[in-house]
Amino acid sequence: MDPLYARYPFFEAAREAVAGADVSLPALVASDAPAVERGRERVERALRSGTTASETPDAYDVTAELLSYPIARILVSLLESTAAVEKYASAEAATAADRIREDLEREDALRSTDSVSLDLSDVLREFDLADAVRPAVRGTNGGAGSTGQVVEPHVRGGSSGRPSTRDPEWFRIDVGPYLQLFDAEWGDRWRLVNRELRDGTVWIDRADLDRCLERAARSRILEGLPFEFADDDGISSDLEAHVADLRRLLDERATVGSFDVVVPELFPPCMRNLIDKAEREAALSPPESLALMAFLTAIGMSPDEIVAFCADTSLDAEGIRYQTEYLRDEAGAQYPPPTCETLSAYGICHNEDDHWQVAGDPLAYYEARLEAAEDIVDWRDRNDVAEAA
Ligand code: SF4
Repeated sequence: MDPLYARYPFFEAAREAVAGADVSLPALVASDAPAVERGRERVERALRSGTTASETPDAYDVTAELLSYPIARILVSLLESTAAVEKYASAEAATAADRIREDLEREDALRSTDSVSLDLSDVLREFDLADAVRPAVRGTNGGAGSTGQVVEPHVRGGSSGRPSTRDPEWFRIDVGPYLQLFDAEWGDRWRLVNRELRDGTVWIDRADLDRCLERAARSRILEGLPFEFADDDGISSDLEAHVADLRRLLDERATVGSFDVVVPELFPPCMRNLIDKAEREAALSPPESLALMAFLTAIGMSPDEIVAFCADTSLDAEGIRYQTEYLRDEAGAQYPPPTCETLSAYGICHNEDDHWQVAGDPLAYYEARLEAAEDIVDWRDRNDVAEAA
């Protein structure tokens, strides 16, 4: 089995490999094969942490990892929650986008010895974008070449004929696919009027292309979801216990959102440490920024308020809006920030003064401190913030 399929189980070739394999998903579920536990982990991690990468990747072989994807799709369908399906698809796509970046950034020498081989042209072909996205070089004046001409750089040729140069930093994408891929929630910078449009193509940089590819992956993952099941479908009853666990996780949302007070002095140490780190202009890792955004969202801050709160930090407004959008469902409910245990596993929590004794998650700790405090003033009501607004 090609390890590439396990990393990108929604690729067409991976789906064909599953269809062609002599494997029965109901039998797999009935025997509680490793792919089932990994499938449950995929959905749980998607709902809790915004990723579907395993916390114990060495525990699963390539086949279990690949087959856990259809199992996860069955599980998330059984939750009967549109918000859960959307969060699951976003997490799968974000995980795939991280992997695509990792795999493409490897040097050719390294790549030739690695078991996974992926080129940008392979990825573009996968999403039917091979003809719509073309690499190009910007001129020194910041435009489409100093003479107004587009220069085509040497481009990787895909797994069937790979040149040795690195992928370029700029691309032109046909306006039709661009409009299909971008999301109005991404901010004004993405609106066509704010883009350089020439000969029916839009200029985008490498980071923009990564985001478009993540969007294409999300659309692919959402195809066919949620599944519908017959009442007497054996697979549903065999997965009942896993579904009940995941439903409990979804229900935790009900306990979030009762806050609507922002007192930074009373934030738990883990969140203060992350804010201090961002204020030193140090980049936060994806789990760090997700934990911070989940906490700030859960205490009732709007995306605009979070952008203002983080104005003097390394966090940029566009990234904040993107993450906070992920953390809210259509009804405006939020998912809770990770527990102290999870934050500890990521090295974010240092359990200062043994305050795990006080609370099991940062929200509960904050709530306890609010209850004990007197004369609190909401950050949003403070003079300097009100004047700046
Ligand atoms: S124990 Fe919990 S609340 Fe306290 S710093 Fe660690 S993660 Fe944060």
